Amino acid sequence: QVKNLERLKGKDNVTQSGQRIDICANIGKREDIENVLRSDAGGIGLFRSEFLYMENRHKLPTEEQQFQTYKLAAEAMGAKRVVIRTADLGGDKQAECLDLGEENNPAMGYRGIRISLDKDEMFKTQLRAILRASVFGNVSIMLPMITSLAEVQSAKVMLEAAKRELKDEKTAFDEDIQVGVMIETPAAVMISGELAREVDFFSIGTNDLSQYTMAVDRQNGRIGRYYDPHHPALLKMIRIVTNNVHLEGKRISICGDLAADLTLTEFFIQIGIDELSVTPPQVLGLRKKIRDIQ
Ligand code: PEP
Ligand code: MG
Repeated sequence: QVKNLERLKGKDNVTQSGQRIDICANIGKREDIENVLRSDAGGIGLFRSEFLYMENRHKLPTEEQQFQTYKLAAEAMGAKRVVIRTADLGGDKQAECLDLGEENNPAMGYRGIRISLDKDEMFKTQLRAILRASVFGNVSIMLPMITSLAEVQSAKVMLEAAKRELKDEKTAFDEDIQVGVMIETPAAVMISGELAREVDFFSIGTNDLSQYTMAVDRQNGRIGRYYDPHHPALLKMIRIVTNNVHLEGKRISICGDLAADLTLTEFFIQIGIDELSVTPPQVLGLRKKIRDIQ
């Protein structure tokens, strides 16, 4: 089986009738960069930068530490896309170095972009590190846990400030770096048309989108049977977002676990999803599934 899949390396992700979809890979630790290269993925569709903040309990990662890691990924991938998601901390990803405090309802609490916009120096440090790495490959920035247009606009103001600083310091960066958002909340689904006029690309985080749509804590096994990623409400949302994004001529991917669900691959291709981003070991199996579709 594994050997059969190996034969698919270098092959296109194309159905029998010629429909194409990109396959990228998700990474959540430094060592995964190697796994992505081995997997023959078309790029890194989701770089979960949180690990940088979780590996040291005493100190936030410095700009230099972050820059080195982002640069490593950018150089390793060459011309292939590397989508770096800004820190998605809080909720199920507690970082000891930040001391986020106790919350009754962490999934609905202080997390993701909310922390970044609140801790603006920490956010700017990360943006500077990503910008500096952007000249070493094909890097873009993705914002997590978006619920409003204002959050995106504030993040972009911060990005402009980081760019201005680097310019003043005569440090190189990609002036046209793309900015995308994750669709992880029903609010983001409903305003996806407006968001599409504000950013360059989208990625649906089906893990959180399922949680917030079905009102089921993704960590709570007791109510696990209510966590149904095939729920018609979720599939309908995926379709709505895809249409809204495409009306503005922008790209859309899926990077949650559902991207690897082979029973839905045909549906994703039919509605026009541009890219699926899965774990490195899932890349070739997904390619096989796509190539078997009529
Ligand atoms: C998601 O929510 O689907 C996602 C990809 O982000 P994470 O799993 O890191 O929350
Ligand atoms: Mg998420």
